[in-house]
Amino acid sequence: MYTTIFDCAESNVRSYCRHFPVTFSSASGAWMVDTDGRKYLDLLAGAGSLNYGHNNPLIVAPVIEYLNGSGIVQSLDLHTVAKAEFLQAFSDSILAPRGLTYKIQFTGPTGTNAVEAALKLARKITGRTNVVAFTNGYHGMSLGALALTSNPVKRAGAGVALTNVTFLPYDGYFGPSVDVCDYIEAMLTSPGSGIDRPAAVIVELVQGEGGLAAARMSWIERIAGLCREIGALLIVDDIQAGCGRTGSFFSFEGSAVQPDMVVLSKSLSGLGAPLSVVLIRPDLDIWSPGEHNGTFRGNNLAFVGATAAIRCYWTNGDFARSVQEHANVLTRELTAIADSTDGEASVVGRGLITGLSFRSVALADQISKRLFENGVIAETCGVHDHVVKLLPPLTISSTDLSFAIDTLREVVASTLGRPAQVDAA
Ligand code: PMP
Repeated sequence: MYTTIFDCAESNVRSYCRHFPVTFSSASGAWMVDTDGRKYLDLLAGAGSLNYGHNNPLIVAPVIEYLNGSGIVQSLDLHTVAKAEFLQAFSDSILAPRGLTYKIQFTGPTGTNAVEAALKLARKITGRTNVVAFTNGYHGMSLGALALTSNPVKRAGAGVALTNVTFLPYDGYFGPSVDVCDYIEAMLTSPGSGIDRPAAVIVELVQGEGGLAAARMSWIERIAGLCREIGALLIVDDIQAGCGRTGSFFSFEGSAVQPDMVVLSKSLSGLGAPLSVVLIRPDLDIWSPGEHNGTFRGNNLAFVGATAAIRCYWTNGDFARSVQEHANVLTRELTAIADSTDGEASVVGRGLITGLSFRSVALADQISKRLFENGVIAETCGVHDHVVKLLPPLTISSTDLSFAIDTLREVVASTLGRPAQVDAA
């Protein structure tokens, strides 16, 4: 019914809506509803910005109460009660229990702006210009972040040279039998490699847009060691894999790595409102006041939502455990589905940022389309769009997760022309 206005009035740049061409009118928890009243299980989750589901009442209620009480909505970087409460909750319940002491920089509201800030700061600190990024990495669409992003279609949109970045192979880039660490070490440490000493190395522990490759902890630990050796700062981009996605608040938990900086965004506000931060090792916080400004650094509705999300889900380990339990179920079932495809599909990702990688690009696209026809929203990702990506809300119920798995199993089987293998477990 509304399609025409989008076709007529909205820029050609729109993309997700082309894959899921209905008009959505409401959403609650893991479900979205279109204008015809059809329900869809949302495994896109705002590309990772809706980890706690749509309109989670535990998060929305305090935000409504705040608005009704004449709470300040926008405050630049002025001190507000809402910001103070967020800083306190984040420090007490996220940083302190993990032995982390980061300073928190609020940037412009997008993830890409937080990446820009981290890049600027790393270059300022080290006096170096080059930055190392990894194959299939994605860090955003503004020029500095785009230079770190490997996707050729996105890069082509820049219109200028994307410079001062060296790409090195991500863990597993040449297959499981090639350990790229020796190569990376040689390229970063040997004077003959031709690579300028980098200000920073930026890395995602699960490549959210680039195909869901997940780095081994031993790999990231070795990269961190190399960074120390060559005086480069380690920036973990946890914009998509953070905020609980992998089963712990940060994706690097469980490794010995303490990044020099972490960029966070997407689900930080709890309700899908924009909020982005750079976490900075305290001794590295050498910004001059106002050096990375931005009007929308004071989104107080996002602060209130973020505080509520932390208080509801992160004051003890229960939520993380439930995410891990769901993730175990999903991985087990995805493995069974992949096993039924005669090597056509394999499981990628970690925690609840996971999916099936297909040898045939056309298959991934068909499966995403058929899932949608069957009431499940799941996008494709990867440089060839060959991965069906599953990002369930972390708060998803076991029943809804089973529905997602059953639908995927049937769709994969019917698309490949094989009977669905129902897992007896
Ligand atoms: N880094 C990562 C890992 C991301 O997944 C994204 C968004 N998909 C970004 C950076 C950029 O965030 P934004 O789209 O909010 O600018």
